[in-house]
Amino acid sequence: MKKLDMIYEGKAKKVYRTEDTDLFIIEYKDDATAGNGAKKGTIVGKGVINNKMTTTIFKMLEEQGVATHLVKRLSDTEQLVKAVTIFPLEVIIRNTAAGSITKRLGIQEGTKFETPIFEFCYKNDEYGDPLINDDHVVAMKLATREEIATIREMTLRINELLIEFFKERGIQLVDFKVEFGKTAAGEIILADEISPDTCRFWDIQTGAKLDKDRFRQDLGNIEEAYQEMLKRVDQ
Ligand code: UDP
Repeated sequence: MKKLDMIYEGKAKKVYRTEDTDLFIIEYKDDATAGNGAKKGTIVGKGVINNKMTTTIFKMLEEQGVATHLVKRLSDTEQLVKAVTIFPLEVIIRNTAAGSITKRLGIQEGTKFETPIFEFCYKNDEYGDPLINDDHVVAMKLATREEIATIREMTLRINELLIEFFKERGIQLVDFKVEFGKTAAGEIILADEISPDTCRFWDIQTGAKLDKDRFRQDLGNIEEAYQEMLKRVDQ
């Protein structure tokens, strides 16, 4: 499958059309941003790691009945995926308090929630990806009630599977962001990536942060943390 024109360039990935209108090629980059683009940098080897990790995790999810866009990994930094239109929504699950919720609501980092918290953010850099609720999503025609219900159900299932998967690897899944897309046939499937860029991972034994917070907070050993996560996932 050959890459044709680039149709989208995000902060961490590029998306290309292919000769097959139902398939795209994604290319993972080493570029990293935080704080809605305020902080920019490079995490050497990140593209390769996030491509591999997302491939392993999406395969696991598919095996457990979650429909994803993954067709196959093509190279170190490339994936062949099903073409979708992405819902402009960041779908977030929080199992433990960290990041924006600690600042917004004053909840202490590390506070565990009895049931996962489900959030939507409107994916729009101009407005800083604001937190919105179901009514905003429907009013702004970002998704229908029925689509919201499907997205919610799929995300909670993904959370259950990921919590277990990472627990077996000595990792606490603190929170994560996923994105969904719709195929030409109208099927809602998991898209984007699941990686240390999009999840918070804490070592169960030591509490060490093994994710992009090392970049966001200048904690050092960023590349090592990403490598460690890949090692755990591909064990
Ligand atoms: N997240 C993401 N992309 C974003 C914003 C958040 O992947 O543009 C992930 C982030 O890595 C974390 C979860 O979503 O795992 C919750 O992030 P939070 O709302 O705490 O925002 P942050 O503190 O990262 O700004």
